[in-house]
Amino acid sequence: MRNLINILDFSTEELQGLMDTANDIIDHPETYRERCKGKKLATLFFEPSTRTRLSFEAAMYELGGNVIGFSEAQSSSAAKGESVADTAKVISCYADIIAMRHPKEGAPLVASMNASIPVINAGDGGHNHPTQTLADLLTIYREKGRLGNMTVGFCGDLKYGRTVHSLINALARYEGIKIVLISPDELKLPSYVKKDILKERGIPYEQTTDLEAFMPELDVLYMTRVQRERFPNQDDYLRLKDSYILTPDKLQNAKSDLIILHPLPRVNEISVEVDKDPRACYFKQVLYGKYMRMALILKLLKEAQKSYALSCDDITVIEKKTDTPECLVNVLHCNNPRCITSTERELKHIFKLTDRENRVYRCLYCEAKAE
Ligand code: ASP
Repeated sequence: MRNLINILDFSTEELQGLMDTANDIIDHPETYRERCKGKKLATLFFEPSTRTRLSFEAAMYELGGNVIGFSEAQSSSAAKGESVADTAKVISCYADIIAMRHPKEGAPLVASMNASIPVINAGDGGHNHPTQTLADLLTIYREKGRLGNMTVGFCGDLKYGRTVHSLINALARYEGIKIVLISPDELKLPSYVKKDILKERGIPYEQTTDLEAFMPELDVLYMTRVQRERFPNQDDYLRLKDSYILTPDKLQNAKSDLIILHPLPRVNEISVEVDKDPRACYFKQVLYGKYMRMALILKLLKEAQKSYALSCDDITVIEKKTDTPECLVNVLHCNNPRCITSTERELKHIFKLTDRENRVYRCLYCEAKAE
């Protein structure tokens, strides 16, 4: 079954295919109005959302399909203690595709391992948010005419900002990308992105606390909110929340063709005066997100039909006995308090080898490094 849990689940060719479909939907919306007639999308949102949930719902309605679901954990059986695995099995009996948001990292992956329909990660804790990346990529592509050969600045909460992790993962596969990471020391990019993605792929990057110093170099500026709900300590949040506020004067030395993105919601990281600047693209980004979600639903539903037809294929289990196995099951324990394994006790603790030379293992669900 094809799912979208991590943006790397799709090749760059597949991402281009989604953008081509989204562009075609923008140009010929009438030809898509009945494409999902009789199909149901289940939106399982265990955490608040405005854009992502409503954009998925709008996307499905515009394709002629229907939507079922819930918008908070309290109104689901999770409040009674149901596991993500069981919820996924149950919803598979009612719907054709699932979009899931969950505060625990790896929860949509667990859902995909138990569902018999495609699962889309609509945001898992501070980990990933691949469908926001689809919106970001289409915005960059339409506004700049390319996805490579550019300097992209990420500013704000790079530690807990899941949209940043997913977009860096995606951009690292294009030619000529340079990244500037602008954050307070406490909110720097996690090592599973910085080390495993940027260093591993040889992507040039700078790490700084000074937004204005790098402003003249940027082609794309990706502002983010400091993620209050992920802080273990609210005093730290209060101390860091106003670290960066983009105002018109700070844009004086920026390129005339810079584009300013933000996954939204904005708290105060971009002053409303910047909205009038033609370089501000964050509301267009919202609209492009809906078209990319339409393209994604179409692709996954089409591939689900294919995988049903192929479901009789032989399954070969390959067992490798080495000192450094590819995978460790119930040997190590994930200590990340935000990982889905911290609340769903029956889950196996699975670690995958991500760096053979240094024998680094990371949790399959949240990518925390094994201690
Ligand atoms: N809407 C984005 C997310 O769900 C960004 C944010 O909440 O700051 O991650």
